[in-house]
Amino acid sequence: MIEHCPELGPEAFLRFEPKDGFILGRTPVRRYLRDLCASFADQAACRARLEENPLLYQVTSIEDQHGAGQLHYGLGVLMPGKIGREYFMTRGHLHAWRPAAEVYIGLRGRGLMVLEDERTGECRVTPLEANTVVYVPGWTAHRTVNIGEEPLVYWGVFSSEAGHDYGAMGERNFRIVVVEKNGAPVVMERSAFLRELEAQTQ
Ligand code: MN
Repeated sequence: MIEHCPELGPEAFLRFEPKDGFILGRTPVRRYLRDLCASFADQAACRARLEENPLLYQVTSIEDQHGAGQLHYGLGVLMPGKIGREYFMTRGHLHAWRPAAEVYIGLRGRGLMVLEDERTGECRVTPLEANTVVYVPGWTAHRTVNIGEEPLVYWGVFSSEAGHDYGAMGERNFRIVVVEKNGAPVVMERSAFLRELEAQTQ
């Protein structure tokens, strides 16, 4: 463009589409209900939807740079919907390098982030929607939940050294759930929601 000052290459300059959450020239990874059934509280409701196997979310990860000081980032799209009364959500994870924080930037839709401090067990729920930023501190498991009627689209930006640990939260799951009650999302203790489900089947 300008002599002696070339444009940035595709490792440093990308175009993205905020409505459907695609990054031009990159391939998203998709997660379907079959991949995530165990994360939902209502196992009967999950089994009833397994044949349909809806798309829950997709993430396009940009992990081109490695080493101290570098950043990784990803564009997430979480679809609207529910399994039973529980809203569509991501699997959720901790960072393999526990001190690594992350910044989430909401682009579209209406969602919540569920945060759980691994050291104290303390949980937090915070909105994630267009024009919001959520800072996820280190040692904190994080999951996004779509409580709206359109796709929830957001960026996550984190240290290239963070890594992902899905195993820890996969085994014990988050302590709270986000479920629909009288047409609105409510946050409940998982144990209390499981007792409600059990009472309904008796
Ligand atoms: Mn993360």
